[in-house]
Amino acid sequence: MLLEPRYVKLSTRTGIEVRRTLPNARKRMIGAWAFVDHFGPTTQTEGMVVAAHPHTGLQTATWMIEGQVEHRDSIGSVKNITPGQLNLMTAGRGIAHSELSIADGQVLHSLQLWIALPDSVRKMAPEFDQYDDLPRIAIGLIQGTVFAGAMKGHETSRAETKLYSPLLGAELRVPAGASATIELDLGFEHGLLVAAGAVSIDGQPLPLHGMEYLELGTPRVSIRNNGHTEAILMLLGGEPFSEPIVMWWNFIERSHDEIVQIRQKWNNRDSGIPEFVDHIGGWTPAPELPNVTLKARN
Ligand code: MN
Repeated sequence: MLLEPRYVKLSTRTGIEVRRTLPNARKRMIGAWAFVDHFGPTTQTEGMVVAAHPHTGLQTATWMIEGQVEHRDSIGSVKNITPGQLNLMTAGRGIAHSELSIADGQVLHSLQLWIALPDSVRKMAPEFDQYDDLPRIAIGLIQGTVFAGAMKGHETSRAETKLYSPLLGAELRVPAGASATIELDLGFEHGLLVAAGAVSIDGQPLPLHGMEYLELGTPRVSIRNNGHTEAILMLLGGEPFSEPIVMWWNFIERSHDEIVQIRQKWNNRDSGIPEFVDHIGGWTPAPELPNVTLKARN
């Protein structure tokens, strides 16, 4: 099943647009992966100027394909991220962060993924980690970097990324003309996003920026690069997330009332999340809630 992206303008100083593949009308989550934003490639390297905004109940995972972004947050982290590294911010009960692209490169190309935290840990204290020694694997001519969990058949190359439910995340680089078969964990559902290049999946062309959803129990998938340039695929997987969640703006909670409360606290600057200094300045208020009761879903 193809999950097509929709174009979403972020509330940033520069009005940048991202392609959002999750949540999708056809599938809300893949395992605990609840949100997939794909940005670029763009030569507008000054484009990422996201002022301080909060998160609760989730982890943000930032992956750079090209370019560099500075991360700052309310627990004092200041870190640049470059390709091959993973920034993992665990919001828990609440954190705020800002993101500023460093405009000295040629191209900016990145993904931001959100992971829903299970109920047992969603009120934990916030944390931030950067991983820069992630396992690399080869599947035929495909070169992979594993940033969450482990690929089936490559279990010794497990990312140390601190996660709270069974997940897989990997970037796969497929040379022009190459093909390979990827073994999948039968207990996971998966999504395969084309970030660059022209590929087919099990013989069917998968459109650039589209994500193929592979349901629970899919044993393997064959990938072929039909183009003349390297293709980049993002493989996400996980055990289906069993807890209904309410995801609204930057928060993942369990009920409409919890969303109302955290929204109000953030907008009253009474959330308990410390303010912090960055080169962007300012603070992003939560928008108005829709005039309906938000329902918990999964
Ligand atoms: Mn954010």
